[in-house]
Amino acid sequence: MTDKPNPAPVQGAPGGPPATGAPGGPPATGGPDASHGDSEFQPAFDHPLTPRERMAIERTHMPEQDALARAANFHEVNLGYSVQLAVLEAERCLQCKNPVCIDGCPVRVNIPRFIELIRTGDMVGAAASLLGDNALPCVTGRVCPQEIQCEGVCVRAKKGSPVAIGALERYVADWAMEHPVAPLLAPPTGKSVAVVGSGPSGLTAAGELVKLGHDVTVFEAFHAAGGVLIYGIPEFRLPKDIVQGEVDRLVAAGVKIEANAIIGRTYTLRELRERFDAVFIAVGAGLPVFMNVPGENLKGVYSANEYLTRVNLMGAWNPESDTPILKGHRVVVVGGGNVAMDAVRTAKRLGAEEATIVYRRGKEELPARAEEVHHAEQEGIRFDLQVAPTEVLGDENRWVTGIRCLRMELGEPDASGRRRPVPIEGSEFVIDCEMVVVAIGTRSNPLLTASEPDLEINPRGYIVTDEHGMASIPGVFAGGDIVRGAATVILAMGDGKRSAHAIDAWLRGEYPPKPEELPGTGEHGAPAKAAAEPTAEPAKVATE
Ligand SMILES: Cc1cc2nc3c(=O)[nH]c(=O)nc-3n(C[C@H](O)[C@H](O)[C@H](O)COP(=O)(O)OP(=O)(O)OC[C@H]3O[C@@H](n4cnc5c(N)ncnc54)[C@H](O)[C@@H]3O)c2cc1C
Ligand code: SF4
Repeated sequence: MTDKPNPAPVQGAPGGPPATGAPGGPPATGGPDASHGDSEFQPAFDHPLTPRERMAIERTHMPEQDALARAANFHEVNLGYSVQLAVLEAERCLQCKNPVCIDGCPVRVNIPRFIELIRTGDMVGAAASLLGDNALPCVTGRVCPQEIQCEGVCVRAKKGSPVAIGALERYVADWAMEHPVAPLLAPPTGKSVAVVGSGPSGLTAAGELVKLGHDVTVFEAFHAAGGVLIYGIPEFRLPKDIVQGEVDRLVAAGVKIEANAIIGRTYTLRELRERFDAVFIAVGAGLPVFMNVPGENLKGVYSANEYLTRVNLMGAWNPESDTPILKGHRVVVVGGGNVAMDAVRTAKRLGAEEATIVYRRGKEELPARAEEVHHAEQEGIRFDLQVAPTEVLGDENRWVTGIRCLRMELGEPDASGRRRPVPIEGSEFVIDCEMVVVAIGTRSNPLLTASEPDLEINPRGYIVTDEHGMASIPGVFAGGDIVRGAATVILAMGDGKRSAHAIDAWLRGEYPPKPEELPGTGEHGAPAKAAAEPTAEPAKVATE
């Protein structure tokens, strides 16, 4: 009988020193440079661990910028793992026989496989595995709501903290970005596909289609590709060079991008159908919803969409930029989703002394990712919860001076199962401010859909598709937010991936595709269904 090896004193494990970057642990050495620079792989342990030993390792903390410092700059908040932290965290994975984490991922990334490859130091293999499953891992590793997807179902969550799947994904993805490998492309098929919109759905579809040998052109209304990733999500959460890197990878693989092309104006859908063998529509749902209260058209009121586009896409975050942007000392952002958190944290970084979230439900109901709420709190954002605006107030020159609100209490559950906020009589009060940002949701933009009468849309303006993503016009497919209603990056990507394979079947004359040809099956990987009912209050991951 061999002696059972004693575990080495492990950082983060009971009996070992605290984890690097964790409170009480050694200073964090993470960050893009530290993680992928000269540091060499070394196994975290000198012997294979038993499941019990794995269970004893505490979750490895992701190093992040100091809260006070980062509230005044636009650099990325999370700094990423170093190789040592990644390998240590990979040791926590139990390599379950029934890896439920895969079921929790909308694109069914083979999570234990890439984690095991990190653990053994095979970064080339880990990158190939991850990129084979997920076209934009640098993005999803940063913005996916892992806590309610893969990490939410990880078996380790039952007795403590789940494996930090998102942080490990980000580590591998950033490594792969620095070590590019030419993708394997099928021989040219002679078929061409137009992709309308360059958000995560369009980019994913384009990447898959080009790998399948098709000639792909992406048409984008803005001057830069990336959709919400480039114009909505701020630099401090998703650096724009990361998104550009993903776009460059697709261009290098052969995807053509025509910017400043609005389909429905510059070209019609009909023209695209004549020029291309198939079309994939992924125009998102970017039309802002307003509160419909008096004073909403005063100077100093922005939609979150306009505010974030000015700051991100048009560079107003940069003091050298000539893009005009108002910088209120007191800014109120109405809404509780990711968009609201992005807007309020942006206002803080642009110099607001008081940056306040006004949301009509309680903290538990905030639809934003838990991490974003936590980071916002750390940065000094005020939360005025169970409060609903009734009027925006202005001075004689029509500049905003405040926002009138009512306090709310929670009544009976509504259709979403959440308790409906009900106004408390006589609770009216005013929050003084110079700027209001409205972040209560978005809906479909009729620019394209209204220009093509044959394209079936539902009463809310979203494109109706069959279960494989084909719209009412043969050869025209659609996916992402323009089918689902405002949802998430990973769901938009899942639609792009599945539609690409359905388009491929269509181009081969073998539509509908065989189930085994389609990536992502099961509940979480199901194809997009048109948003059928009004969702005044979207689910936890929605962006309101
Ligand atoms: C500020 C913000 C923060 C968010 N944060 C998160 C998050 O943390 N995690 C998460 O998972 N999700 C988040 N989301 C939601 C997520 O970004 C979207 O669900 C996702 O981007 C939808 O992808 P899409 O490809 O369908 O559309 P989009 O990303 O909206 O891309 C659509 C593209 O189509 C272009 N377009 C529109 N009309 C036309 C036309 N007629 N012709 C040509 N091009 C056109 C648009 O300019 C745009 O580039 C956030 C959304 C916002 C706005
Ligand atoms: S469920 Fe958690 S522990 Fe199990 S394989 Fe997935 S990540 Fe690893």
